[in-house]
Order: sequence, then C-alpha cells, then structure tokens
Amino acid sequence: MNTKLIEELKNRLESQKNSITKELETFAKKDDAPKGDWETKYPNRENGSMEEEADEMQEYDNMLSVEHSLELKLRDVNAALEKIDKGRYGLCEKCKKEIEEERLMAAPEAKFCIEHNK
Ligand SMILES: [Zn+2]
Repeated sequence: MNTKLIEELKNRLESQKNSITKELETFAKKDDAPKGDWETKYPNRENGSMEEEADEMQEYDNMLSVEHSLELKLRDVNAALEKIDKGRYGLCEKCKKEIEEERLMAAPEAKFCIEHNK
C-alpha cells in the first residue's frame, strides 16, 4: 500500500481518536485499568420523584450503550494506529491479505477484508 495513503488514513484515525475521546469525556471517566476501559458516570440524583429516577435510569442505560460502542470503536482505532506503527496496517486479520483500499478509505479502522467482515 502506498505510504501517502497510509499517512492520510493515519491522520484520519488520529482525529477520530481525538473526537471519540472528547465525546467519552463528556459523560464517562477513563478507568485507571491499563486496558483503556471507560466507565459511564451515574447521573447525579438529587431528591427527585420516582418518575425522574426512572428517566435517569433510562438515560444511564442509553449512555452505557453509547459508551460501549464508542469504546469499541476507539479500541479499533487504536489497534489500527498501532498496526501503522508496526508496519502491518491494512492486512485482513483472517486471511492476511491486503484490505481493499476503498474499504480502508471508508473505514480506516477496518480489521478484515470485505470477504471476512462479519
Ligand atoms: Zn480476509
């Protein structure tokens, strides 16, 4: 794969990483654990009614699922950046063939070629 393309995708991955991190920081705190988990903060509850508490639970549930998907995405982005550093970027993790360029352009964090994606 040409270095210019890798350079461009690396920039995109880095800006994705920054924006995902910023988004997570708005409602979650990073675990001290080395694996880079995030933990959604439980909404502050004051002396609200039962109804308000139910809303908060709902909101918390929503945030948890948002957090989960952001976290997975961030993990993929970090893994892709790591592969760029190690010079192993753009190879399908299943068949080790090069992932199609168009696919990487659409999703630079892709881990599999089109054939092996899911
Ligand atoms: Zn493959």
